Amino acid sequence: MKKMILGKTGIKVSELCFGALPMGPLQKNIPAAESAEIILKALNGGINFIDTAQLYQTYEPIRLALKRAPFRPVIVSKAMAADYDGMRKAVDESLQAMEIDYIDIFHLHAARVPASENVFTQRAGAWQALIDCKKEGLIKAAGISTHSVPTVRLAAEIEEVDIVFPIINKNGTGILFGTLAEMEAAINLCLARNKGVYFMKALGGGCLVKDYHAAVSYARSIAQVPIAMGMVSQAEVDYNLAYFKAAPNEIAKLPELVVEEKCFQILGFLCKDCGSCIEACPSHAIAKESEAIKPKINPDLCLRCGYCVGYCPQFAIRMV
Ligand code: SF4
Ligand code: SF4
Repeated sequence: MKKMILGKTGIKVSELCFGALPMGPLQKNIPAAESAEIILKALNGGINFIDTAQLYQTYEPIRLALKRAPFRPVIVSKAMAADYDGMRKAVDESLQAMEIDYIDIFHLHAARVPASENVFTQRAGAWQALIDCKKEGLIKAAGISTHSVPTVRLAAEIEEVDIVFPIINKNGTGILFGTLAEMEAAINLCLARNKGVYFMKALGGGCLVKDYHAAVSYARSIAQVPIAMGMVSQAEVDYNLAYFKAAPNEIAKLPELVVEEKCFQILGFLCKDCGSCIEACPSHAIAKESEAIKPKINPDLCLRCGYCVGYCPQFAIRMV
């Protein structure tokens, strides 16, 4: 597996990053012990890079995997905390929950930031907490995870930002406040400023899975940076490893990935029409057709991120 250094951090990671979101309770909700086996398979196969988040609730399977891992992988987490204390707590929680004494990368988790807002000043306390944690050696690098083009552009300009984790995929699914071309330009600006960059949602959160080869090929064409891919089975790990280890002339011989397509739906009989999910969705995929009708998820806009699940007090949003 090809390895690469993230910007000026010196952190060396595999091109394929293990995305822990889909195995957790926001999506597949695989038992922790079973998830740990999937992570271990990935580590034993050559992946040394795991991306998670406070929101994903997947620290436990990572902790279990680390106990039997052949090496200490590079671990990323992120938190939506708005202030200093909240972010310090989020970093502490990640260290305790995974039983590690430092975390390699910690992001401001900032999927949906409107073009008019500067998340680094709006959440200045949280950002300062990451800077302080870095000085104290609790984290090695600080960054931002976002779907917003202006925020990627802004991150390029901020000296203290080590790592940028933007959404990018060939259809532009999920990109906010800008076009696909504008996101490509913002990513190139980050790379020109020597930021470490790795990509999220190259498969559009699942909607491009039937077009895996073209989707990964597009992401690779933007820049030679790692790509985080969610994996929820040993078979998916095998497939991703085979693809990312293959020489360019061997890729065409690999079959397309066969997966069961799932999507998120709001169960009308449980929904109390409170509207929380509409605000929470980073992709504006949830809307009401009229005041009298409960909200619905538009499958063409849904990134299968599962963020809305945690915001629903009725547990009415399910993957079906
Ligand atoms: S509806 Fe929105 S928040 Fe929910 S899974 Fe889809 S993109 Fe994510
Ligand atoms: S958060 Fe849950 S209860 Fe509220 S509108 Fe959305 S699906 Fe319905």
